[in-house]
Amino acid sequence: MRIHHLDCGPFRPLGGRLMDGVSPGAVGRLTCHCLAIETDRHGVVLVDTGLGLGDMRHPFPRLPWWNAALLRPLLDPERSMLRRLKHLGLAAADVRHVVMTHLDFDHAGGLADFPEARVHLTAPEAEAARARRGLLGRIRYRPAQWGDTERWHPYETRLGRRGRGSGETWFGFRDVRALEGLPPDLLLVPLPGHSAGHAGVAIQGPRGWMLHAGDSYFNRDEVHRRRRGGGAPAPSCPPGIAAYERLMAWDQRARRTNQARVRTLAQDPLSPVLVFCTHDPVEFVAMAAWSEGRGAPGAAAAAGAAPQPEGGSRRGSGSS
Ligand SMILES: [Zn+2]
Repeated sequence: MRIHHLDCGPFRPLGGRLMDGVSPGAVGRLTCHCLAIETDRHGVVLVDTGLGLGDMRHPFPRLPWWNAALLRPLLDPERSMLRRLKHLGLAAADVRHVVMTHLDFDHAGGLADFPEARVHLTAPEAEAARARRGLLGRIRYRPAQWGDTERWHPYETRLGRRGRGSGETWFGFRDVRALEGLPPDLLLVPLPGHSAGHAGVAIQGPRGWMLHAGDSYFNRDEVHRRRRGGGAPAPSCPPGIAAYERLMAWDQRARRTNQARVRTLAQDPLSPVLVFCTHDPVEFVAMAAWSEGRGAPGAAAAAGAAPQPEGGSRRGSGSS
């Protein structure tokens, strides 16, 4: 197994450090941290697709105007998953599975670029996306991005708003699902709250377990920050991205509950699992560097490593 960390749909929102906690100027940086996993027997498996080629070329009406104005995506075809894979010597036909954390426009934009892949997702997310209830449902779910939905492979989960569930467990998380046609080192971990069927994706790679926590949190300090000296959790979030996070949440209580679960895992000194989210640029740099065998992810994140310069972020990848 070889894991590539790819930034497929970088955003440059106004607000600088109010959005990412580190950028000194007026413009902040948010990533769209996706994974391309080369397996021995199952082709290439993607975790999320980020923005797609169609979004880059003809953004509207594929993308919601309001969110695009706020997040300011870099509409460059070279930053799409399809093109990033091409630079790695991989083709669309090599992609046999896509595992989705959820179907928001900034995660599902590239689905149509991989028409032969089976799409794994939770049943509540598939149902919510098809129904597009309310203004938020119509904003976040964009059917023009999906291609053929017959290939969706939804997994029933019972982890509702109260966090109760059954089924398999993984490091204390309930209702975890193995994925059909894939080995047990890839798991869907329900974390509803940001969206109705939001999930994390657990991967046991060459360097151990990692949890792609999707949008269960947006900034590293929500999950990784500790009180100085005491070592107790001291979560915080830059106010700009915190407001966006609240605005896009399907259920605030479930979001907070599941974020707390992710925080517990991330801060457990005995946990062997590396935890990262989609949009934090510091985590992306740390994970990409760690995957290339440079440094430790925890140390890089704790040190507040600066996001990559523009040239580096265009490359936007790291592999293990
Ligand atoms: Zn997102």
